[in-house]
Amino acid sequence: MINLKEFEVWFVTGSQHLYGEETLRKVAEHSTTIAASLNDAKQIPVRVVFKPTVKTTEEIYSICMEANTAKNCIGIVAWMHTFSPAKMWIGGLKILQKPLCHLHTQYNRDIPWNDIDMNFMNLNQSAHGDREFGFMVSRMRMNRKVVVGHWQDPEVLEELNTWARAAAGWNDWQGAKFVRFGDNMRYVAVTDGDKVEAEFKFGYAVNTHGIGDLVQVINQTSDAAIDTLIEEYETAYTLVPSLQKGGAQYNSLRDAAKIEIGLRTFLEAGNYKGFTDTFEDLHGMAQLPGIAAQRLMASGYGFAGEGDWKTAALVRAMKVMGSGLPGGNSFMEDYTYHFDPANPMVLGSHMLEICPSIAHGKPSCQIHPLGIGGKADPVRLVFNAAAGPALNASLIDMGNRFRLLVNEVEAVAPLHDLPKLPVARVLWKPYPDMKTGCAAWILAGGAHHTGYSQNLTAQHLQDFADMAGIEFTLIGKDTSLYQFKNELRWNEVFYQINK
Ligand code: MN
Repeated sequence: MINLKEFEVWFVTGSQHLYGEETLRKVAEHSTTIAASLNDAKQIPVRVVFKPTVKTTEEIYSICMEANTAKNCIGIVAWMHTFSPAKMWIGGLKILQKPLCHLHTQYNRDIPWNDIDMNFMNLNQSAHGDREFGFMVSRMRMNRKVVVGHWQDPEVLEELNTWARAAAGWNDWQGAKFVRFGDNMRYVAVTDGDKVEAEFKFGYAVNTHGIGDLVQVINQTSDAAIDTLIEEYETAYTLVPSLQKGGAQYNSLRDAAKIEIGLRTFLEAGNYKGFTDTFEDLHGMAQLPGIAAQRLMASGYGFAGEGDWKTAALVRAMKVMGSGLPGGNSFMEDYTYHFDPANPMVLGSHMLEICPSIAHGKPSCQIHPLGIGGKADPVRLVFNAAAGPALNASLIDMGNRFRLLVNEVEAVAPLHDLPKLPVARVLWKPYPDMKTGCAAWILAGGAHHTGYSQNLTAQHLQDFADMAGIEFTLIGKDTSLYQFKNELRWNEVFYQINK
């Protein structure tokens, strides 16, 4: 779906003319080797492109300017092999609009104990050269990632992997378009927010279309296209008998396929990266999009229900960040609790729309009545999600800022069959424990809607929030309510002052 190898991060090495040609030749040789090695590393999902050593204010400004306008460049990895006086960096950093990662490394892993002399010392100075650079970035109050260690260290590669994935998600939002069919679900607060501020802060636009615009496209769908999609359903899922050819509700399956084709056509024609709809506004549609929303998510589109454009955009970014990793990302909602003190858990689900990328095993394609919306019974995919580490992320509008809230969870295999539950579902245990996790979430104002991920870590989302320049709060294994409440209070002051 999304090929991260289309994207580049630029490897930029800083130095100065003080050292003479011979040293600068060595610097170039070393940084070429490091960039090539990062580019070839299987842990790095994007291309790493070597850029010639920058040695002057003008060269630094130029490379930053170039990075800003290069379409495929999603960020800069900077490294000061030697000492690069940081006043030279002010002009460039001031205009840099792409994410910055400071790789604090050096060419040699070990000190060559027997051979080390002053020539070696003068060449390999990043231990202090990088500090001069770090001061300037801090002095300019710029968010950036700092990765420390030898460039062949697997942990360093993993940190660069995480940062590059966050940068790809961030890049994807720039200029992105999301469509909202109808308005927000009436009276709901947390799913709404300031779309003007979101476009300014995040770079994506959310615009509305009346449901009639979509219905018109749906109604143009050919029977042949529906036949082809039904064949795909038959291969990919286990259809309940009533939905099979000749079954009593086969026509509902055809209606669902028609909706999927129409939605996909609409999204492709408008170059949209995701959408949101609401069961309160379905005029002219046979049923609420269930399987359509599920399968569009599996194709990489962002989605959230009830007009929740923030979560739709977040789900899209999470899908880009997780691209190529095992496991999936989905729209999710904390639905109901299991308060057994010995084994407390959350049952996550939605009315219909959970992405099959998180399914464990082959989904079953079913049809059941929906108590709300007043439309025909919607077709949906029903499945359990895989057990293992996961997280929920929620992007909320606090009025003076956006907050990205993450709760690390452990998904567990279902204890029981749930034979009467007609929707896809996940069971998880929030960290640090059920009561603390849920209390912290509520204190932070986290939404009931989230992006649920099996393949991203809190670090991906923290790097992402830093790129966006928004608040990031984590509920994880070490969270204590005392500390968390203070963090929220202190952040309140920070974001009032730091406007
Ligand atoms: Mn909902």
